[in-house]
Amino acid sequence: MIYLDNSATTYPKPQQVIRAVDNALREYGFNPGRGGYRESLKTAQKVYAARETVKTFFGMSNAESVIFTCGCTHALNIVMKGVLKRGDHVIISSLEHNAVVRPLHQLSEKGKITYSIAKVVPDDDEMTLQHFREAINSRTRLMICTHASNVFGYRLPVERICALAHSYHILFCLDAAQTAGVLPIHLTHDGYDFVCCAGHKYLYGPMGIGLLLIGNDNLIDPLIDGGTGSVSSDLAMPSFYPDRMEAGTLNIPGILGLEAGLRFVQRQGIGQIYEKESRLINVLEDRLKDYQHLKLYRNSNLAHQDAPVLSFAVEGSDSESVAGFLYKESAVAVRGGLHCAPIAHKSVGTLSSGTVRIAPSVFTTQMDINILVNSLRKFR
Ligand code: PLP
Repeated sequence: MIYLDNSATTYPKPQQVIRAVDNALREYGFNPGRGGYRESLKTAQKVYAARETVKTFFGMSNAESVIFTCGCTHALNIVMKGVLKRGDHVIISSLEHNAVVRPLHQLSEKGKITYSIAKVVPDDDEMTLQHFREAINSRTRLMICTHASNVFGYRLPVERICALAHSYHILFCLDAAQTAGVLPIHLTHDGYDFVCCAGHKYLYGPMGIGLLLIGNDNLIDPLIDGGTGSVSSDLAMPSFYPDRMEAGTLNIPGILGLEAGLRFVQRQGIGQIYEKESRLINVLEDRLKDYQHLKLYRNSNLAHQDAPVLSFAVEGSDSESVAGFLYKESAVAVRGGLHCAPIAHKSVGTLSSGTVRIAPSVFTTQMDINILVNSLRKFR
C-alpha cells in the first residue's frame, strides 16, 4: 500500500513508538498514583517524565498543565464545555473540523451559547483578521481556531488572532490536530490559553491519546468526574491540574507511546520534517498543475507557509470515486470526500464534490508520489 492519508492518522509509526507501547505493557502495567508499592510509584514517575517531555516540546512553563486526553476531539470538548457558560458567544474560523463545530452546534441548539463563523481568506491575513474582529460582541468569551486547515493546508494567522482575542479579554484555543509535530508551537511565546493536539497524527503516537495544554492560570470545569487517586476523601474534583481533568485510569501505553513519538519528532527536527513534506507537496503540485479537468486547491501567495497537504478535485467526478480508483488501481490510500470539515468545504466552494486529499508523512518518498501521479493519469 502507498499510504498518503497521514492527516487522518500517521502510518507507519516509528519503531521507537512500537517498542515504547510494548514496553509500557510489560514494565509499566500498573496504576499510577493509586498504590504505595514500588511498581505503581515507578509508573507514576514515568508518566510525570512524559509530562515533562510534552512541556519542553511545547515550550510550556509547567508540566502540571499537560492534560492527557483520549484525542484532540476530547481535548476540544473539555475546553468548550469547561469554559463556556450560558449566554456566552464563541467565534470560530470557517475552516474548522466537526470536532469543533458539532459540540458548538449542540450547545447552541440547547440555547446555551451562540457562535459566529469568521471567514478565512487564504491569501489575505488582514481580511481574515478583520472578519474575526467584526464578529466580536460583548458576550464573546472564546475564540477557537485551527492552526491549519485539515483539508487544504491553509495556515491561519493564529498568533495574531490570539493577540486580537486577548486585547478583548477573550480566551483563545488553538486546534493543533494537524500541525503539532509539523509547525512550531510554543505556548509561552505564543500566549495560547489552550492547545488541543491529536497524539496519533504528526506526533506519531498511537491512537487513543491526545493532549490538552493549558497556558493560563484559570481553573476550568472538568468534562468527566471520577477517581484520581488524590484527595480521595473530597467528593469534589481536585482543584489542581492535571488531576482535575484526568478522572479515571490513565492510558499508560498511549502516554508512553506518545512520548516516544515526541522524541522521534524532536530527533528528526520539526523544521526538517516540514521541509521534507513540503518539498513532496511542491513536486506533486508541479506535476499535477497541467492536468486537464483537475483543480488544485493551493494558496497562491502564502503556500510556502501552509501545512504540507494538497487537495484537488477532478471535474465531473466525485472525489470519493477518484480515491476509490486510486486504491483499486495502485493501492494508493488517500481520502476523498469532506474530511469531517463541511464548513471548510462550503467556505472554499467544494461542498458538493468534496476533494481528494494527499497527506505525506516523514516516511513518504518521492517514489510514492510518482506512483500516485502515474495512477491519476489513468483515471477516466
Ligand atoms: N481537529 C482537526 C483539525 C482534525 O483534523 C481532527 C482530525 O482529523 C480533529 C480535530 C480530531 O482529532 P481526533 O480524531 O484525534 O480526535
